[in-house]
Amino acid sequence: MTHFYDAHQHFHFDALTPHRATIDADLRKAGVHRAVVNGTCEDEWPVVTALARHYAWILPSYGVHPWDCGNRSPNWQSALRTELVADPHAGVGEIGLDRWIIDGVKPGDPRLTGLRVASMEEQADVFAWQFALAAELDRPASIHCVQAWGALLDILKMTGRPERGFLLHGYAGPVEMIPAFTSLGAHYSFNIQLLEPRHAARLENFRQIPLDRLLVETDAPAKAPPPESNRFPLGTSASGSEINHPANIIFAYEPLAALRGVPLETLAVQVEENFLRLFL
Ligand SMILES: [Zn+2]
Repeated sequence: MTHFYDAHQHFHFDALTPHRATIDADLRKAGVHRAVVNGTCEDEWPVVTALARHYAWILPSYGVHPWDCGNRSPNWQSALRTELVADPHAGVGEIGLDRWIIDGVKPGDPRLTGLRVASMEEQADVFAWQFALAAELDRPASIHCVQAWGALLDILKMTGRPERGFLLHGYAGPVEMIPAFTSLGAHYSFNIQLLEPRHAARLENFRQIPLDRLLVETDAPAKAPPPESNRFPLGTSASGSEINHPANIIFAYEPLAALRGVPLETLAVQVEENFLRLFL
């Protein structure tokens, strides 16, 4: 049986809470061995810890996401270090840079309700500190980047980096930057959403990425496949979008294998090796 690994998701998010038992059973049936569950702000960290104790397939990761950067508490740094020291397998993430929330978001977008949007400078400081902590403890860092690829590369070059490498989740940067990121230790996770026609250029990136740096992700509960191909329907979230079931990971492997021209089983063995090297 093929073993599947989800490099990036959020099992603890409210949209999945009523479905936890179903999802757990479906993941076992589907052959999903491990998934990295990313806490994105201080309030979420203890929830992720509790879930990781309960579900053996969870690899917890803790970080301050760029969207949550402006709302961090005064002692967020010691709280983050405490979480990481308590679990030698915990990663750092989701951390990163997001220029879209500063100059791309439409005013009144409900996703930003209650958030103080941090400037790029503030985001960069908070990201660089967390990435340095990942380097110090040699933990896998899971990075979110939207419209800030040059700034990200500058920080990655300046600071120490985790020896095991780091993940650029759902990589959507320019194809020309892949060699530079790869030389610094980047791994890249493919999301089934990249198959949408509007993401054709991003899909092309995944032909160029070295096979030993490829991973696969759902980003569940976000980014559900279109309803007609969503084989694990969970209904819609409070915001009205289709909820993405983490077991949809199995449907992301097939198109990636086709894109790379390798059999599914060959890809799965390679992704397993990459996942275990980076995250365990
Ligand atoms: Zn995420």
